[in-house]
Amino acid sequence: MKVTIIGGGVAGIQTALALKGLGHDPVIIEKEDTLGGKLRGWHRLFPVMTPARDVLEPMLKQLRDQQIEVMASTEVQAIESDGVVTSRGKVESRATVVCSGFDLFDATLKEEYGYGIYDNVITSADLEQMMNNGKIALADGTQPHRIAFLHCVGSRDEKVQQRHCSKVCCVTGVKQAIEMRRWFPHSEIYNFYMDIRMFGPGYEEMYRSAQQEHGIQFIRGRISEAAPVKGGKVQIKAEDTLVGRPLKMTVDMLVLLIGMTAGCSNSRWTECTGLSQSDSHFMRPLDMFEGNVRSELPNVFYAGTVTSPKTIGESLNEANAAAMRVAAYLETL
Ligand SMILES: Cc1cc2nc3c(=O)[nH]c(=O)nc-3n(C[C@H](O)[C@H](O)[C@H](O)COP(=O)(O)OP(=O)(O)OC[C@H]3O[C@@H](n4cnc5c(N)ncnc54)[C@H](O)[C@@H]3O)c2cc1C
Ligand code: SF4
Repeated sequence: MKVTIIGGGVAGIQTALALKGLGHDPVIIEKEDTLGGKLRGWHRLFPVMTPARDVLEPMLKQLRDQQIEVMASTEVQAIESDGVVTSRGKVESRATVVCSGFDLFDATLKEEYGYGIYDNVITSADLEQMMNNGKIALADGTQPHRIAFLHCVGSRDEKVQQRHCSKVCCVTGVKQAIEMRRWFPHSEIYNFYMDIRMFGPGYEEMYRSAQQEHGIQFIRGRISEAAPVKGGKVQIKAEDTLVGRPLKMTVDMLVLLIGMTAGCSNSRWTECTGLSQSDSHFMRPLDMFEGNVRSELPNVFYAGTVTSPKTIGESLNEANAAAMRVAAYLETL
């Protein structure tokens, strides 16, 4: 039976593969012209530095081999009881799985860091892109020597209405710091953090290795502001909260570890009577336990980061769980 899947990131692709395996007829509707979602922009993945393409390409090949229908460059505008309304018209289905993912926090909203205004202030997503392009350089083309990473940009921050922890940015910051050490063996690298949250398998070990084997320095304190100084450098002001002293440092490159914010499509989904958002604007699942891939409607399901920040592995697991839930629901019809 036909099942519509909104979004062709890793969660949407895996939901489609699992549903096909269960004998159903999934169709992925993706607003961009290519599948893969955010994963397309990443270089190597934590925790074991797997090249991102080694995860994505086999999934895309399976989609092609199994001739799963994909409607690319098509935006879903509304969820209805018998399908979805898209920018190309209505697609009817018996069930819908919402895999519309997350948005990257817009770093320009934290004006005090000068993103988009000062040279050499970049985001973690920009750094992934530079790595994919095979060149990491300052605005004048030279190599950075002193690099600072700032954790929690657009997360755990009342001022920008993002109270939640984005979960993946501490480990991304540690991963990127280690990668920078490999690109620039003689550089000085500092990570400014509020708390280090290394919750997953192998993450704590990675954090230790960053300190002990790669010489990354971790400073507990939030950078209060950044300002441009001569020669394209950036001066940062922070407080080292472990020793209780203010700190000023001039760096060549400041990397903002931007958080995961609720997807902009979510407000549309709540126009469908019965679906709602949590306080942080991610979609609210039926419950946090046995119903975590179900919505408040019997024929609408969720998988991946549409409901909260998650890793790729967690998003894939949810996709498999959602497909099983959909199959069980379709059997009741
Ligand atoms: C900087 C950074 C680095 C990361 N690195 C790692 C890592 O190394 N390892 C790891 O495990 N995780 C990592 N993650 C997390 C990882 O990116 C996510 O777990 C993963 O992308 C979630 O996939 P998703 O399918 O839920 O969402 P997304 O990747 O956001 O995909 C959602 C898709 O839905 C589409 N869509 C949205 N709205 C609509 C609509 N209305 N109609 C049609 N299509 C729509 C979007 O275009 C998109 O293609 C990182 C996250 C960040 C922020
Ligand atoms: S994972 Fe780390 S950097 Fe990201 S919001 Fe949580 S504490 Fe901050």
